[in-house]
Amino acid sequence: MKALRLTRWKHPAELVETKVPTPGPGQVLLKIAGSGACHSDLHLMDWPEGQFPWPMPFTIGHENAGWVERVGDGVTSVKQGDPVLVYGPWGCGMCHPCRLGRENYCDRAGEIGAMGGGLGIDGGMAEYMLVPSARLLVPLGNLDPVRAAPLSDAGLTPYHAIRSARARLTPGATAVVIGAGGLGQMAIQLLKVTTGATVIAVDTDENKLELARSFGADAVVLSNAGAAEAVRREAGGRADVVFDMVGADATLALGAKILRPEGRLVIVGLAGGAIPISFFALPMGAQVATSYWGTLPELMELVDLAQRRKLRLEVETFPLDQAPEVYAKLRRGEIRGRAVIVPGR
Ligand code: NAD
Ligand code: ZN
Ligand code: ZN
Repeated sequence: MKALRLTRWKHPAELVETKVPTPGPGQVLLKIAGSGACHSDLHLMDWPEGQFPWPMPFTIGHENAGWVERVGDGVTSVKQGDPVLVYGPWGCGMCHPCRLGRENYCDRAGEIGAMGGGLGIDGGMAEYMLVPSARLLVPLGNLDPVRAAPLSDAGLTPYHAIRSARARLTPGATAVVIGAGGLGQMAIQLLKVTTGATVIAVDTDENKLELARSFGADAVVLSNAGAAEAVRREAGGRADVVFDMVGADATLALGAKILRPEGRLVIVGLAGGAIPISFFALPMGAQVATSYWGTLPELMELVDLAQRRKLRLEVETFPLDQAPEVYAKLRRGEIRGRAVIVPGR
């Protein structure tokens, strides 16, 4: 089968021929319906040799949904043809966080040798994908697996970040989302659907701001030198929670400037920026947190929201042959919502 694989450091992923895997005991082979193109894959393609955490080659694509094709010995909870979403952060399955479904925070993450399918071992940008255990699958029921694929990362990551900040997101509170791309658009929607907060979106791209409005943002602000003042004007003060979906020096500095006392600045974007943390550098009582992906129960909640038609699942689909070009477009900011690769097309 064809697969989009990382084969060299600091190099775009390439389409190459690989073998269809055979599921061993406890494993599940999926026929991929859709695999979302995440900006994190661009970070992987940019990482230099010394810093790249895993051996190559492997197939990318960590935002996956499909149909069960074959199950290994002992698997009884899913059967051929079932539409399922893949929970992406694969932990050891045995430690305390893993037992709570918080595999994104597995105690043994460093020892496993990969973070999940598409992140160190073969992922979903191929016709088939091997999932090591049925525990990592969430049934999709009546949802279209192509449009649902982004729920597993572009949806789950902001959902987890929002849920972890829920105590602050009361009616009357203001949430700011910096970066209204794949994750940011879902963040805006999820804030509107699950909290009472007013939502302000910030982006450097006017088109993304227009899209942000269509997803329910109460106000939008262009990311430039005057952004902090503009956010404060729109918010009628400062923000209770800032979700930084970029994570660059400039966006983190903006986040710190617009945060109110006891506010929470959540770093989701992986641009690798930093901000100074000291007693005097931040508003009194402020929190700064990183937030990584999400938990299995949260993914089930998100699927439930989507099944009840509470979410707009907007994707642009492309055949596998066009995957390299899709990543080039993502880098140039030319993907409107989330791009989903559909290998069967
Ligand atoms: P994307 O390319 O779809 O969206 C990024 C958006 O940020 C774009 O709309 C772009 O215009 C905007 N942007 C860029 N620079 C900006 C600036 N200075 N100010 C305001 N907006 C700016 O990317 P995505 O797939 O949504 O991913 C966003 C980030 O989140 C990436 O860094 C990705 O690696 C990271 N990520 C993190 C996790 C996690 O678990 N923490 C999970 C998935 C993705
Ligand atoms: Zn991702
Ligand atoms: Zn674990």
